[in-house]
Amino acid sequence: MLVWQSALPNRQWLGGGRFYAVRTMQTTSSTTVQPIEVTFPDISRWRAGNAGIRYVHTFDSGEAGPHVMLNALTHGNEVCGAIALDALLGVQIRPRRGRLTVSFANVDAYERFDPTSPSASRFVDQDFNRVWSATVLDDAGRTSAELRRARELRPVVAQADLLLDLHSMHEGSQPPMLSGPLDKGIALARAIGAPAHVIVDEGHPEGVRMRDFGGFGDPASRRNALLIECGQHWTQASVGVALDSVARFLAHSGVLDAADLPADWLLPPPPAQQVIHVTDAIVARSTDFRFAAAHTASTSAACGARGR
Ligand SMILES: [Zn+2]
Repeated sequence: MLVWQSALPNRQWLGGGRFYAVRTMQTTSSTTVQPIEVTFPDISRWRAGNAGIRYVHTFDSGEAGPHVMLNALTHGNEVCGAIALDALLGVQIRPRRGRLTVSFANVDAYERFDPTSPSASRFVDQDFNRVWSATVLDDAGRTSAELRRARELRPVVAQADLLLDLHSMHEGSQPPMLSGPLDKGIALARAIGAPAHVIVDEGHPEGVRMRDFGGFGDPASRRNALLIECGQHWTQASVGVALDSVARFLAHSGVLDAADLPADWLLPPPPAQQVIHVTDAIVARSTDFRFAAAHTASTSAACGARGR
């Protein structure tokens, strides 16, 4: 059973080989106030980009290798990925092989961040991570700030062989990697080696995520993508997880050697990874939900108000 949780005081739990969480019916409100430990970086220096798309930087080594894309700010208030990619661009990393693209997605939402209402800048008009199907993207009758941005990013997302989408969660918990339902996603998460928990989840019922777009969601395609929830939105620990996952993803892909990145980006690897298959989803009818039995909170896969 998987139940996404956002504002609820109850933590998700892991027991009996099944992963449980809570999905609420809420949109952007939150009943839990979380401290903001990190400074939101001024990423305006990356606005121009170098690929004809604002906030998109791409570097081609000229050598054979995959096109690796790292993305932050799919949700505008999930800053840890932005801090990590701001740092990556800041050290002027260039790929040894293949091509590296670094993108900041929903910058319009990010720029609206208000520490007195930190959950409100998750998106402007709609969730950016629910529009990633050709049907929606090609529908000229639909428009929103997020659709406009998705349409800007679509050409480069469609070219990426490997995508890491950096997210964070409202509630603090251990960081899960969301592999998607396909064996190739699970295999990639295992190859990355961290974090400890790999959640094998189906697509989101409200719309297709960027991680599942096109070939990423096609078992016959070699294209592959992962989504990591680095931890609570605004903790320093989540920044550490984001840097670690970026370093691991780049080194595994082969576009860089591990030694090319700052040594302190890597965290100690977990002793073992646990792959957890989501078996059921339950929507909580209110924030007053309670588990019927005692369970041990262990991990979480929620991100923002409705998750991922
Ligand atoms: Zn998110």
